[in-house]
Amino acid sequence: MLQFPSAPVVSRLAPTPSGFLHLGNAVNFTLTWLLTRRAGGTLHLRIDDLDRARFRPAYLDNIFQTLDWLGLDYDHGPSGPDEFERYYSQQHRRPEYEATLQAARAAHPRLFYACRCSRAQLARAAAPDGCYPGTCAALALPFDGPGLAWRARVPPGAAATWPDLAQGPQTVALTQELGDFVVRKKDGAAAYQVASVLDDQRLDVNFIVRGQDLRTSTAAQLWLAEVLPGQADFAQTRFLHHDLLLDEAGHKLSKSTQTSQQRGIAAEGAAPRVVYRAVAGLLGLPPEAGESLAALQVALPTYELL
Ligand SMILES: [Zn+2]
Repeated sequence: MLQFPSAPVVSRLAPTPSGFLHLGNAVNFTLTWLLTRRAGGTLHLRIDDLDRARFRPAYLDNIFQTLDWLGLDYDHGPSGPDEFERYYSQQHRRPEYEATLQAARAAHPRLFYACRCSRAQLARAAAPDGCYPGTCAALALPFDGPGLAWRARVPPGAAATWPDLAQGPQTVALTQELGDFVVRKKDGAAAYQVASVLDDQRLDVNFIVRGQDLRTSTAAQLWLAEVLPGQADFAQTRFLHHDLLLDEAGHKLSKSTQTSQQRGIAAEGAAPRVVYRAVAGLLGLPPEAGESLAALQVALPTYELL
């Protein structure tokens, strides 16, 4: 049976305004909403806009439109784009992320190193597994130099383990599957993994629902939580990594393969039933369970997630 955290469940929807939301995003939100509501939990809307390079106001609008279209409510978070920009944008918390990174560096002098590799160099030098080959690990480049990223020095044998609510016990070998990953980007902003841990901890999130493609992110975040000051409670987070939707050819759905969804799932003219049916399929429920959000809520308890 699905075992929720013993504390009251706190979860979040965490979209990024870097593209229009596709079917996979909508399925994740619906599943998160269903499980959190079933547990009587609290749901935050936590929009990740730390990387503003691909940000567009239309993408931000699309987040609110998609949640409305799906009929999903949330308990805390911005009510719309204006309130988001004014009070909730991650841009307001950049000093907090920076202070945590600096404190971690002070506490563990060898934890990070500076990396000057260009995008082209990284593409040429990447190991067959895609991991960073450690080009800059021994160079002792100055941390405050211009155009330098910071990488975490992942020790040999480092691994993250967690009891996944959908997949059972999980182990990710960080050294092999992730390598020395970026914690602070060349523009001085914290990397996604750092901001995500800090934000989830700030909101007291203890239940995270995400796709299987984010397993290595979960591993990176669990490892970071051990070394970033004040983030140790993140280890208590319960994770559910759901299977990914496949297209008709059996490929994972991603923003880049969603050529027919240039304006996002909510603007395609279909009813949200297409999302509910996909959720029903993911949960192994009969198709009629996906007729409506209410039908999904009724059908949910008959399915054991473990
Ligand atoms: Zn480098």
